[in-house]
Amino acid sequence: MSWSHSLGTSIRRSNRGECHPISLFLMSSKVNIPIQMITDPALRDIAESVSLGKRVGEGAVLSMLSSCDVNGLGMIAGAIRQQRHGRNTFYGNSLNLNYTNVCELRCPLCAFSCDEGDDNAYVLELDEVRKRVAVACDGGADEVHIVGALNPKLPLDYYRGIVAAVRESGKPLHVVGFTATEYEYMSRSSGIPVAELLAEFRDAGVNALPGGGAEIFAPQTRERIAPKKISAERWLEIMGLAHAAGLRSNATLLYNHIETHEDIADHLKRLRDLQDETGGFKALVPLPFHGEHTQISSRRERPSGMDTFRLFAAARIYLDNFDHIKALWMYLGAKVVQSLLHFGADDVGATYLNEKIVHAAGASTPRSGSEQALRQMIRQSGFFPIRTNAGYE
Ligand code: SF4
Repeated sequence: MSWSHSLGTSIRRSNRGECHPISLFLMSSKVNIPIQMITDPALRDIAESVSLGKRVGEGAVLSMLSSCDVNGLGMIAGAIRQQRHGRNTFYGNSLNLNYTNVCELRCPLCAFSCDEGDDNAYVLELDEVRKRVAVACDGGADEVHIVGALNPKLPLDYYRGIVAAVRESGKPLHVVGFTATEYEYMSRSSGIPVAELLAEFRDAGVNALPGGGAEIFAPQTRERIAPKKISAERWLEIMGLAHAAGLRSNATLLYNHIETHEDIADHLKRLRDLQDETGGFKALVPLPFHGEHTQISSRRERPSGMDTFRLFAAARIYLDNFDHIKALWMYLGAKVVQSLLHFGADDVGATYLNEKIVHAAGASTPRSGSEQALRQMIRQSGFFPIRTNAGYE
């Protein structure tokens, strides 16, 4: 094994000849940004604040989301990303267990759910869960994501059974289990407080929570895209309870539907505020809305690629207390994700064996990816692939 250094990154060469970079960038409050190359005066002010280690406000998010100086945004967000992670870019090898699609909420934004009795309705038997976990483990999976719909026929023991079935594998899998929405649903149907459920599932083997269900917090917009879903306040409260229970989580932000820039700024602010209190979020995962087969007919034209770049860069710049910004290749496509790595993103997601939710809404990406393809995607954009799990362990 040998060591060499370049561009602030230490590269460990293993006996197999693969390079494993380990970032030597230490977090400091200051960021080096070529401010003279930024043309938008509002962005210059933001760059100066960031370069001095100062926090930017919600007004800055609005400026960034409408700035024509997309290169300037990339310079600021890219410098922050470089300071935090160097050229390291993370990916995972994961299995998705979308255990049922029968849902009593039937949110307008959703293409995945259906009613009981529909031709496509399903519930995964626990034996099927065991089989899928065994296949995924044979394929080298490190983590399992368990997310499903709110099926009134499923008792609490079913959810317990899924976690037990995953843990029966005996493999050291990182289990990312159930959104805040699902914990609230389990709590309502069982009468057990959410905090108790979180502790029980943690003790049973859940390591972290996914970030789903956040959608967009702004009440008028949330009311139109997911009127029956738990409120933003309750979602944030449950995340706070999870963090207090020692379960870290991601946070999502759904965009490209009917949201406004103010909605996005509000969403980011609420996340940053909670993170200041708990420190429990690992990554922000901005998700572009895919509208096929949903009930949201008034969605605007697809955003230009530039809107996606603005959003990711703004999130990286504003969320100074989040370690990671995740750009899911399955939602965004490999080419967009490769470019987003230069706009603040440092994680491309995972292989997602058996993903169902975004493909039900018309995503044209492959239904799962190979580890080799993810590593190549990262290398081709000038970064180092680092395999990890959702805990970044
Ligand atoms: S988004 Fe979730 S809660 Fe809403 S209908 Fe779909 S599965 Fe059910």
